Amino acid sequence: MLGAIGRYARWLHTQWPAGTVEKLPIVRPDGATKVPGLYVVGDLTGIPLLKFSSDSGARAVQTILADASFQKSRAAGGPIDLVIVGGGVSGMAAALEARKAGLSFEVLEASEPFSTLVNFPRAKPIYTYPTSMIPAGALQFSGKSDIKEGLVAEMRELTLERGIRPRIARAEKVTRGDGVLNVALAGGGTLTARRVIVAIGRSGNFRKLGVKGEDLDKVYNRLHDPRDFRNQDVLVVGGGDSAIETAIAVAQCGGRVTLSYRKPELSRPKPDNVDKLQRLLDDPTAEVAIEHPSSERVTTATGAFLDGGAAGPIRMALSTQVKEIRPREVVLAKQNGETETLPNDAVFLMIGREAPLDFFRRSGVGISGEWRPATWVGFALFLAFCVFLYNWKAGGDLYHAFEQRHWFPFNVPDALAAAGASWSDPATLAGTLRLSAGSPGFYYSLAYCLCVVVFGFRRIRRRRTPYITAQTLTLMLIQVVPLFLLPYLVLPWAGHNGWFDSGAGAWLGDHLFPVTEWDPHGREYWRAFGLILAWPLFIWNVFTSQPLWLWLAISFVQTFALIPLMIYFWGKGSYCGWICSCGALAETLGDTHRQKMPHGPFWNRLNLVGQVVLGVCFLLFVTRVIGWIRPESWFATMHAGLLNGWSVGSGALRLQVNYYWWVDVLMAGILGVGCYFWLSGRVWCRFGCPLAALMHVYTRFSRFRILAEKKKCISCNVCTSVCHQGIDVMNFANKGMPMDDPECVRCSACVQSCPTGTLGFGQVNPRTLLVIRRDRLVASPVTASEG
Ligand SMILES: Cc1cc2nc3c(=O)[nH]c(=O)nc-3n(C[C@H](O)[C@H](O)[C@H](O)COP(=O)(O)OP(=O)(O)OC[C@H]3O[C@@H](n4cnc5c(N)ncnc54)[C@H](O)[C@@H]3O)c2cc1C
Ligand code: SF4
Ligand code: SF4
Repeated sequence: MLGAIGRYARWLHTQWPAGTVEKLPIVRPDGATKVPGLYVVGDLTGIPLLKFSSDSGARAVQTILADASFQKSRAAGGPIDLVIVGGGVSGMAAALEARKAGLSFEVLEASEPFSTLVNFPRAKPIYTYPTSMIPAGALQFSGKSDIKEGLVAEMRELTLERGIRPRIARAEKVTRGDGVLNVALAGGGTLTARRVIVAIGRSGNFRKLGVKGEDLDKVYNRLHDPRDFRNQDVLVVGGGDSAIETAIAVAQCGGRVTLSYRKPELSRPKPDNVDKLQRLLDDPTAEVAIEHPSSERVTTATGAFLDGGAAGPIRMALSTQVKEIRPREVVLAKQNGETETLPNDAVFLMIGREAPLDFFRRSGVGISGEWRPATWVGFALFLAFCVFLYNWKAGGDLYHAFEQRHWFPFNVPDALAAAGASWSDPATLAGTLRLSAGSPGFYYSLAYCLCVVVFGFRRIRRRRTPYITAQTLTLMLIQVVPLFLLPYLVLPWAGHNGWFDSGAGAWLGDHLFPVTEWDPHGREYWRAFGLILAWPLFIWNVFTSQPLWLWLAISFVQTFALIPLMIYFWGKGSYCGWICSCGALAETLGDTHRQKMPHGPFWNRLNLVGQVVLGVCFLLFVTRVIGWIRPESWFATMHAGLLNGWSVGSGALRLQVNYYWWVDVLMAGILGVGCYFWLSGRVWCRFGCPLAALMHVYTRFSRFRILAEKKKCISCNVCTSVCHQGIDVMNFANKGMPMDDPECVRCSACVQSCPTGTLGFGQVNPRTLLVIRRDRLVASPVTASEG
């Protein structure tokens, strides 16, 4: 049984790649941070490409110039206008813009100007994506310099040779005091300025093992020339592309390599690299070359360097961890606790790299994904607000307390009745509105619609693709018309005007909106939500005390015919990203919070919570059907208790333990909305929603995929970082594999954010994976601009 569950979990969720996202400083689109006057530009703002770096540097200066308080402080005299930390592409672009504007400034550079470019491998080809982009400012890329040497010469010519003179000094941190910023320099000394631009790139800190001997001179994080290690014993640590490429390159140049990785199988390498490694393991004399290393840390190519010498062997040491590095040896620990000591001349730690975050921590700049005490306090307060809101809105003790005391909104109908005769007549629109305005649900839905519309227009303005425009307008329309105007205004007004009193109208009214004394409009018009929200997301038209046959038929067609059909052609996102109200709020109000969704294997396993909720829904369904047939049976009692009856304790300490309060109110409402600004807007959609859980199963048979042009992918991880379903998109893209993780909600953030236009929506034959068609609705601005 457990084995079957494990296989099902793997088939549905746990088989997908689950890479995490690099932490970066939290930076607004104009480069500003939460430290007033401190801007961050270049690679650290997210996209590691030359053109974006240059553009962000120049734009940050333009933002500073447009700041009235900056201009005012200049008039008052005092320190220099600007310190630029980092003399790379973005820092130099900022310097050129500052000089053009006549600012007084200083550029600090820790090693040498353009050091990142200077350290590119010899004759490395340079790609200037996106081809149609013209960066702001004077630091342009002519495209003529298509190899490293030409690029460096061009950059120097545009800056150093035109009078930009960086000062060689390492900045340690930036602090604020008396309205100015102080830049502390390594070795002592401080520079004071009105504004600071930090342009220190990502090359920063390589990840550490934390073992003795790691600081020895023979430990490297980059491979420059594998010929240096001919006839040497080399340990390569890591399981990704950089480790494999290093191992192959060193072995091909005659080094004896041991590849140590802590897991039993390699993680995330490209299939090409795995193939090459396997060929060498099978036959060390096989002709294998790394002409174009995919890892920026393997700044070399092999094949040409063999010089006729013999290749060295590669030995795999999986499930081992480095215990100690000694001057002539290394000690590896195996999983069973045994250790092994190997002769060693050099160690390559290819275990990842972190952006230079300590600089930002010291300077008080927030880091994405890092929770400080203030973050926890804000989160707890917002959750408390959500508890209040949902108790008041969803019929809890607060609802009854407000109703008994005739507080808002229960007093609104009386107040409106005094406003004029038309408000008292339910057959007028004003009269219908007056009655609807007496329930908390009306205001909740109204606020929901306003959020979707206001933030929807902001999303359209921000993202500017035909796909986003069409998708957002559709979501807004569905939210406002069938999910608000219809149940709160149009249907009740029609009812008060006799539309459901006789003939076909009466039949329809009685079957869809039964008469009730609990609703001021006299019928259950709220059931109209079921026209859009399908079972088992919206369960209340199916789990009724007596079967509502028309709703049962509608729900059945929705859940078991229409939705599977849509998913077959367009994926789960055709519902989650284009129709559902939870998705509408997540894509609009949640648009700027999508990068907060956690990634990684633990969170991928949590995706299975939805399957548990789905299982409970089916249990409720079975007990409901048996309960209808045998109303006196145990099943009917069980259904009523599980649905919304069971509770423990009494009075103020009464705790509801049933589906309604735990799933509808706690998971979908309190946690779903409560996590919005801390863990992204799709927490409920990804982890809890039972309809999504069912759709994941349908999606496994879908034609929909995100297609990737492998050769365009620069493995920048932007696509993964913006995915608010936690999908490791890059892991498919850089291998050119169609993305088929069923969590995708077709939000298009990955496609829209990819700086090279690698991604696009389309359909494949699920068996052969051959592309059937690509979407015509353009979702990538790069693809659009490149035609
Ligand atoms: C191997 C490799 C290949 C690449 N190929 C391409 C390509 O083909 N096409 C493309 O578009 N992009 C490519 N890139 C990306 C491109 O190089 C970067 O986008 C660009 O260099 C980023 O510029 P930057 O100013 O943000 O940072 P960097 O260029 O890294 O400059 C940062 C500078 O800050 C200095 N610095 C760091 N810390 C401090 C400190 N505390 N105080 C003072 N100075 C400091 C560093 O010495 C460095 O000079 C490649 C990157 C690498 C590593
Ligand atoms: S597909 Fe992803 S990793 Fe590849 S270039 Fe685009 S955003 Fe970067
Ligand atoms: S479209 Fe891209 S970003 Fe959006 S859910 Fe799918 S994979 Fe994630």
